[in-house]
Amino acid sequence: LGDAATLHITIAHTNDVHGHIDENKSSKEFGYAKIATLIKQMRAENPNFLLMDAGDTFQGTVFANLFKGESIVPILNALKYNTQAAGNHDFDFGYEQLVKLKGMVDHPIISSNVFKKEDGTELLQPVYYTEIGGKTFAFLGFTTDETPIVTHPDNVKALTFKNPIEVAKQMVPELKKKVDHVVVVCHDGIEVDREMARAVPGIDLIIGGHSHTRLTEPEHINGTYIVQDWEYGKSLGRADLYYLNDELVGFTGGLLEYDEKVQADPEVEKLVQNVVSHIDKELDAVIAKSEVKLEGERTIVRTQETNLGNLIADALLDKTKSIAGYEADVALINGGGVRATVNAGDVTKKSLYDVLPFPNTLVVTELTGSELQAAIENGVSKVEIAEGRFPQISGMSFAYSKNKPAGQRVLELKVNGQPVDPNKTYKVATNDFIVAGGDGYSMMMDKKSFNTGFTLYDVLEEFFMKRGTLSPSVEERIVEVNG
Ligand code: ATP
Ligand code: ZN
Repeated sequence: LGDAATLHITIAHTNDVHGHIDENKSSKEFGYAKIATLIKQMRAENPNFLLMDAGDTFQGTVFANLFKGESIVPILNALKYNTQAAGNHDFDFGYEQLVKLKGMVDHPIISSNVFKKEDGTELLQPVYYTEIGGKTFAFLGFTTDETPIVTHPDNVKALTFKNPIEVAKQMVPELKKKVDHVVVVCHDGIEVDREMARAVPGIDLIIGGHSHTRLTEPEHINGTYIVQDWEYGKSLGRADLYYLNDELVGFTGGLLEYDEKVQADPEVEKLVQNVVSHIDKELDAVIAKSEVKLEGERTIVRTQETNLGNLIADALLDKTKSIAGYEADVALINGGGVRATVNAGDVTKKSLYDVLPFPNTLVVTELTGSELQAAIENGVSKVEIAEGRFPQISGMSFAYSKNKPAGQRVLELKVNGQPVDPNKTYKVATNDFIVAGGDGYSMMMDKKSFNTGFTLYDVLEEFFMKRGTLSPSVEERIVEVNG
């Protein structure tokens, strides 16, 4: 190669960093300062360099959440991203906050399938255009159209999320008329990425996210390459594209996985430590001791009863006992709202924030026994694929069977030890995510309900402090049977 008709570009890419800004040796996460060093090296190697992020960038840890994502901005700016796609969790502080963040970063935040209901216009810039080595490139952004279900519905009420594949079918042929090359940067999950590659010809590369896929080998479907960079800064994705006379003739891609020996970039490290130290002072406070590990691992808490799920549901139920007129009979939360495990030993404020990063509030709602049964059915309807809807409960128990079709799985629902009465009204302690219809709990929407305004975090912290020492267990509130 080397003559005028050849072009080599290098793209580094991240996704689902979720506020993991600082190095974590035990979880093998680089942190942004070490990622910055890798990026600098690539930039020095190849001037035709681009840096992309495929979303879920502003939310996930206290370092991000306590500042509604604004603490991440100086770091992204120091790394000099070319563009980033909006992920579902980038809407977690409300779409207005995402618009504010868009105004704070030096690069565009893109998505071509998110529209304002009010006037039908796009919320974000749909495409990032740039020229590299004399060639024009369009980077087309997408956000998962599941966002209204998997994010607090209130945050995106004013928006419409169109199907990314349908939008790509329209946009890609148009872009191909205008530019030499089209690349997609999206937060849709690997399944949708594959479907897009099959359904929409003409995309050189899809830089994905959302499914947290450790894609060590790029996929190649129907002429389109697909890459994704795992999660939490455990690796940095790198893709090299070689063009000859405008044709993509060579491609390598893969992940630079965690290596402790990489040196932290001092400038970025300073920015990171600024955020960390700000938080540490307040959040290192110990609020309780746990004699056991509190289980919040996502594949577990989304498929079975866990001791931490029980503890949180107990805390909600307990809290309602002090609110006259709203003393609940049972509590139900979505397992997907439990976002981390806490190890045995000291429980700090920070570890609790990692468990409950969402600014959710405690709601008491009234359901009939049959509605409660329907809610539990919804909770176990997708247990095979570990969706966030799996219930963690208190004050009730049930058995279920995966062998039955969804909707007929719950065999034996008991409230306070008694079989549920389909006609009786029960007070249910839950969170505002669920009563807004999140995670498919539409049967809990629009019922007589009371939002206490207490955040789940505060309720849990109070409960922990009151107890002092914790040793919760799994106690057959939820039993899977082979019926
Ligand atoms: P990613 O970070 O890539 O989006 P994720 O774990 O957030 O991954 P999903 O696996 O789709 O994405 O998890 C979404 C789940 O998170 C929802 O199903 C729900 O259970 C939970 N969730 C999201 N937002 C909230 C919220 N505000 N309150 C409670 N639970 C929430
Ligand atoms: Zn996501």
